[in-house]
Amino acid sequence: MNREIKNPEYCLSGILKCAHCGANINVKRRVKNGVAEYWYVCPKHDGFGNARCDKSNLPFEETNQLIFTIIKRYMHSFLDTEELLEKMNDSNEAALQVRELNKKKSGITASINRVREIKSGLYRDMKDGLISDMDYAYLSKKYSEEQELYERQVADITKRLELFKVKKDTDASVTIRKFMKSKKLSKTMVDAFISSIVVDNEGQFDVSMKLKDEYDELIKQLILREGDLANVG
Ligand SMILES: [Zn+2]
Repeated sequence: MNREIKNPEYCLSGILKCAHCGANINVKRRVKNGVAEYWYVCPKHDGFGNARCDKSNLPFEETNQLIFTIIKRYMHSFLDTEELLEKMNDSNEAALQVRELNKKKSGITASINRVREIKSGLYRDMKDGLISDMDYAYLSKKYSEEQELYERQVADITKRLELFKVKKDTDASVTIRKFMKSKKLSKTMVDAFISSIVVDNEGQFDVSMKLKDEYDELIKQLILREGDLANVG
């Protein structure tokens, strides 16, 4: 264990919180035999012992390293998921599905236009006295329902077609790529990826990641397209 760090960056300041008392965990510098040692300490434990909080101190470098690993894994799974979705979309199978869906969509759109024409024809017929008001009411309700059904189908297909588009160069993936070459934890990296970390004495780190909505969106897309997975070459 090398604790001889020269003026280290306090990467987790303001982010790391004590699970036992909720306080922000501080960095403590201690000089021992002329060598500076750094620890993450709960301010309610430090100086008061277990009386106010029994959170034990955390080794500085190891804690930073652990958080660095967590962020790196997150970055990789984000980009891997994005890449997998892109690969799925590039497959012939996907192109075929998109073509089929578009064909279906234009078919249904044509039906909507047809129903619309019928409805205006009915209106004219009613005005001209060719059909009774009652027949008009009955038929126009019937065709309106038909039109609504088609419109719902078009909306479903449009939603499904959205799944075949991966938004490239989103803010999230641009941020991730910016940090891909980082070799160690920095405050800017922590600020980009983490909103908070709560740590307890059992070594349990409860990490709240940023870019979570974007990541969840990718996973959702992946799950919805699960049936296509088998076709990725
Ligand atoms: Zn505490």
